[in-house]
Parts: sequence; structure tokens; C-alpha cells
Amino acid sequence: MAKRLQVYEAPGITVTFDPNVCTHGGTCLRGLPAVFDLSRKRWIRSELASPDEVAAQVGRCPSGALHYQRPEEAATVPHVKALVPMAHVTSVPRSIGFYEGLGFTVRNTHEPSEGHEPVWASLESSGAQLMLALADEPVVPSQQAVLFYVYCDDVVVSRTAFEKNGIAVGPIEYPFWAPRGEFRVTDPDGFVVMVTHT
Ligand code: SF4
Repeated sequence: MAKRLQVYEAPGITVTFDPNVCTHGGTCLRGLPAVFDLSRKRWIRSELASPDEVAAQVGRCPSGALHYQRPEEAATVPHVKALVPMAHVTSVPRSIGFYEGLGFTVRNTHEPSEGHEPVWASLESSGAQLMLALADEPVVPSQQAVLFYVYCDDVVVSRTAFEKNGIAVGPIEYPFWAPRGEFRVTDPDGFVVMVTHT
């Protein structure tokens, strides 16, 4: 069951924490220990540093679990700079291997302790980004109702390259919204990746 968003208000800045997204690497705890302290019930106390220091530390949260809002920004229309899907998967290394076959590279990973497999990874390919997180519960392929659309310049060339990387690719189809074709691949957890053109 999803945990509720935590909101911590302080003069000059409000910090929110989403426990469902945190990867528990401890960047915040090490970076600004006076503000982020798990030994307290109210574990985020932004009033113990300047709003600028808190905002900078929140910006270093690798998972996006932490966010902040400054009063001067509250009345403005939010400007979304990027939207990155996060897929919950059975095995992060296995999914990294699959998406590397689609041309993605690993930007960052989190391993819970020395010698363990990563439980979270951030991947990118040109302007595309994807996060992978280890699922707490079994992943059921038939229930993956989200499609990922991957855009490329040449569908035929991409299909050939993916096939060479050992990925099972579907036939190229030509619906009216993709006159130069599109095809589907399915990742190890059943997420469908549609490969189409810009
Ligand atoms: S920096 Fe972000 S991901 Fe890391 S422990 Fe803090 S809240 Fe969690």
C-alpha cells in the first residue's frame, strides 16, 4: 500500500518527502545532517539551515523523493522540466541489460550495501530518461498497463539494431499515426515499449 506524502513546513521553504520513492541512499542525511535526521520524529527540520542550503540539498536527492517549494514560487504556475517514468521491475540488473540493448546507458544506480545488486537505476538515451526500481511485490506481466513510447529517426534501422542486440522485436506496422512504421518490444517484466518515429 502506498505511503502518504510527508510535508515539512518552515519559514522560507516547505519540503515534501515521498517515502514510496526514496531509495534510502542517505544523501540527504550525510549532506545536511542538522536538517535531515532520522533519530527525530519530525525528521526534516528545514529551519535548522538556510532555505538556500535546504533547497540545494533537496536538489541532490537522486530518487526525486524530496521536493521543495519556496513562498515566492507558490503563486506561480509550475513549470515541469521533465517527466521521467519509473518502472517497478523484478530485477534491476536484468532490466538494465534489456534497456541497454535499446541504446540506453546507465546514469546512476543505488545498491543498498556493498556487494548487493542495485535496487534502483536511472537510464538515459539522448533526451529519453527512465528509472527502474526493484518491485516489493511480484510483477505480473499481464497487468502492465503502461506503454513506453521510444522515438527514433529510422524505425527500420532501430529494429535491426535491437534485433542484433538479442531483443525480440515485433513486426513493423503502419497505423495512420506512424506512416514510417512502428513496432513493439516487451521488456523482461512485461512492459511494452513501442518504437516509433518522430
Ligand atoms: S537523498 Fe532522497 S533518496 Fe536519498 S535517502 Fe534522502 S530522501 Fe531518500
